[in-house]
Amino acid sequence: MESEEDCIFCKIAAGQIPSQKVYEDDRVVAFRDLHPVAKVHVLVIPKKHYRNVGEIAAQDPDLLAHIVEVAEKIAKDEYNGSYRLVFNTGLDAGQTIFHAHAHVLTGEHLAE
Ligand code: 5GP
Ligand code: ZN
Repeated sequence: MESEEDCIFCKIAAGQIPSQKVYEDDRVVAFRDLHPVAKVHVLVIPKKHYRNVGEIAAQDPDLLAHIVEVAEKIAKDEYNGSYRLVFNTGLDAGQTIFHAHAHVLTGEHLAE
């Protein structure tokens, strides 16, 4: 797997930093956000390092579809299938970790 030194999410994907994993396969890992903003707040990340969701879309659209499928599965396993999927992209959008990740927010009725 391609990874970047000093990338915290590459280290989580590799198991070098502990996380509360809820799902893993050969392409992605899903784990609970350290600072949840919903009753269920899970991050789905590709194991391979991409800077943001646009890079995934351009380079591996199947992987992007897979991330959405995993988000669906989490929302069905942990709630009733409703979920919000957020990809913060760029500093002004609040992206703080430059390893692409989907925020899956679910587990309750979400405010607008
Ligand atoms: P961003 O702001 O880049 O869209 O989202 C980064 C998210 O990663 C934040 O919601 C933050 O709480 C979460 N986060 C940052 N560091 C860690 C960590 O070490 N472990 C986990 N589980 N989540 C983290
Ligand atoms: Zn990374």
